[in-house]
Amino acid sequence: MSDRSEIEWSPRVSLAKIRELYVNEARGTVEDELIEEVGFGLLARCQSIMEYTAACEEGKVRCMRCAKQGQTTIIQRNMSKPSALIRCPVCGWQVRWRVYKNESENYDGQLLAGHAREAFTRYLAVYPQSRTREEKILAIDRLIHEFHWFIMKEDQPARGNKPAAVNLLRGNIVQVYGLLNELTYGENTPPELLEGKSWWLEAQKRKPDQG
Ligand SMILES: [Zn+2]
Repeated sequence: MSDRSEIEWSPRVSLAKIRELYVNEARGTVEDELIEEVGFGLLARCQSIMEYTAACEEGKVRCMRCAKQGQTTIIQRNMSKPSALIRCPVCGWQVRWRVYKNESENYDGQLLAGHAREAFTRYLAVYPQSRTREEKILAIDRLIHEFHWFIMKEDQPARGNKPAAVNLLRGNIVQVYGLLNELTYGENTPPELLEGKSWWLEAQKRKPDQG
């Protein structure tokens, strides 16, 4: 096994799973197993996003081989050299930064947190603490409806650039928008979820490409 092939990230969650979760939730028949599957899938994906972001922005690369053994080894790379060698002092795993970056960018969707960093960080803190199914679904709902925010001018409200869900769900931007807009809610849906939906519809109107 080559050092390069050990570069692995958690995949995006399928659109079908999200749809299934909401359909069943609206009917009041959602099973804990499905909530956990989606919830932990998103959690693992958020971990990958934040790990890759730290490698890019702070130069802190987590050793992929040690990680498989359940160990965390952070290797500080030389940020001024694009082809610097990253070498783990514990297990000997080594790869050039350029290779690490290329492999990661061609892996599965966008891994960089960008302007949605807060949403990913918040989910990482909130989901593991959520006990009831309602809390878990709310955390999931809030995460997938977030945006990559950016500020055009200091005195104007932040604008939603693109859904954070493009980093999280297996689809292109059109498919992700399509899914988020069609998600069903029923009489069993908690009010917070419905509020989230109207917030989402409102926020979309503030997208820059729609004026
Ligand atoms: Zn290692």
